[in-house]
Amino acid sequence: MRLAGLSVDVDSVASHLEGYGFERPQDDGSAYSTAVPRALDVFDRVGARGTFFLIAEEAEKHTDTVREIVRRGHEVASHSMTHGLPFANLTEERSRSEIFDSKVLLERISGARIDGFRAPSWDAGADLIAELERAGYRYDASAYPSILLPLLRRAIASRSAGGAVRTVSGLWDGVFGRTGPHRLTVGNRTIYEIPVATTPILRLPYYHTMSYVLPGPAFRLIGIAARARRCPISYQFHAVDFLDTAQDDLDERIARHPGMELSLSTKLTLAQDCLQRLGRARQVVPLREIVDSLDRPPAGRLST
Ligand SMILES: [Zn+2]
Repeated sequence: MRLAGLSVDVDSVASHLEGYGFERPQDDGSAYSTAVPRALDVFDRVGARGTFFLIAEEAEKHTDTVREIVRRGHEVASHSMTHGLPFANLTEERSRSEIFDSKVLLERISGARIDGFRAPSWDAGADLIAELERAGYRYDASAYPSILLPLLRRAIASRSAGGAVRTVSGLWDGVFGRTGPHRLTVGNRTIYEIPVATTPILRLPYYHTMSYVLPGPAFRLIGIAARARRCPISYQFHAVDFLDTAQDDLDERIARHPGMELSLSTKLTLAQDCLQRLGRARQVVPLREIVDSLDRPPAGRLST
């Protein structure tokens, strides 16, 4: 059965608000205390395993939850140390800390090896892959090879305080890059890129935020086209997909984020439906297992 990588970016409400141009408030902890346990329960119900991309500095305050993620068979990966934005514009020293130190810290608190990285807001600079290779990562999951990326950034800016874009990687960088998981060579080493799933030809992105911003039939058609591809695909959630603005007493400014107007029960049903559709077409696995499958020699060519 073909593979679908599942991932959750465990972004705090505070880090989202910073992305929308506000001064970053104190983290309310809801991503770990509330969203991750709900995501784990939904994944268990549908028999899916996935990768949780954690902001190391926030994860360090919730080590029990981090260990629970690993205990229940999922992968922990790095979503940087602090979710500093714009990520592609950080100084070399700060960037190294975000990439290298987050790996060390997450390995310590999770007790598991950290293989994967996703840049905050998909904001991957030109040196990212070389830095990941130096830090010992096996794969990157920051690519968003879709024409919608520049439009998405404009949409975020239009909802932001002050209308500023908090990302700097060239608007068209990667838009026309490869859409399936692939190898990149850095020096004499290999690192894998696992882009967000897209449809063939039109490159419409298939990830959970789209389920809120598109009409239902359009999202379902995109899903059908993306799931029918031959290559492994990668489907992404955010922690806030498992939070309710009112019920969880969140900072009301998060209401500007897609899906935050929906009730918790509606969101959990939607998440479960999306996962069930994915699970009928593909085996749903952590992103590391996509890398493992690409790393394996093709059947029949095994040397003895
Ligand atoms: Zn993020």
